[in-house]
Amino acid sequence: MTLRPATQTTLEAAGLFRKARCVVVLTGAGISTRSGIPDFRSEGSGLWSRDEPMEIASLNTFRTAPEKFFNWFRPLASQIFQAQPNPAHVALAEFERAGYQQTIVTQNIDGLHQKAGSRHVVEMHGTLHTLSCTQCYRQSPAEDFLQPFIQNGTIPLCTNCNAILKPDVILFGEQLPQSAWQAAQRATRQCDLMLVAGSSLEVLPVAGLPLQALDHGAHLIVINNTDTYINTRADIVITDNVATIIPEIMRRAIHG
Ligand SMILES: [Zn+2]
Repeated sequence: MTLRPATQTTLEAAGLFRKARCVVVLTGAGISTRSGIPDFRSEGSGLWSRDEPMEIASLNTFRTAPEKFFNWFRPLASQIFQAQPNPAHVALAEFERAGYQQTIVTQNIDGLHQKAGSRHVVEMHGTLHTLSCTQCYRQSPAEDFLQPFIQNGTIPLCTNCNAILKPDVILFGEQLPQSAWQAAQRATRQCDLMLVAGSSLEVLPVAGLPLQALDHGAHLIVINNTDTYINTRADIVITDNVATIIPEIMRRAIHG
């Protein structure tokens, strides 16, 4: 890795995208900060300083003190539902629409890739868009419950059995969804280009996917505002804001 002018680097990145047959984009909290969503798993974010998410956003707290969990969760849910995709989400959706085979593997629960129009999205930490009953496991769309919850703090209850509904997000102490993990690995095995965007690659097992991609001979691009463990092995590293850089790369990849 030698330092080159940013324009040259984005040109090279665009070249890799243009040539790629199959792309995996691994996204983390950094891609959504421009949309106003705090990273609830990262130290230093507003939600960390107010409470202790490892404790509050855990399956254990949800089971033993659900009102405590929902109290913590309410401002986050509100921010997520008001959030709009930013230029990075939009550019990735445009790349897929331009006919490229692209799977987005995201650590985010905000649904902004789908809102931007991306169709192949694997959500590793679940989604806020559905809730599941803790007793009878019936799944419900979130929009029926989240408005009264966000406005009045009304805890969502199952219409079937009246037990508390849990947002389908993966809490601390919960397993990653098996089907999502399999889909992420399948896409990684097939890709010839992986882009890590806005993830500092600190959460396993997702953080191991770039290594798997490299082992299969894929090219690797990392765009993040801090270093990651894989930077030394990447073809291209851009230390900058994803919301600025990704639209630039995609514009050049699609239009030349
Ligand atoms: Zn139920």
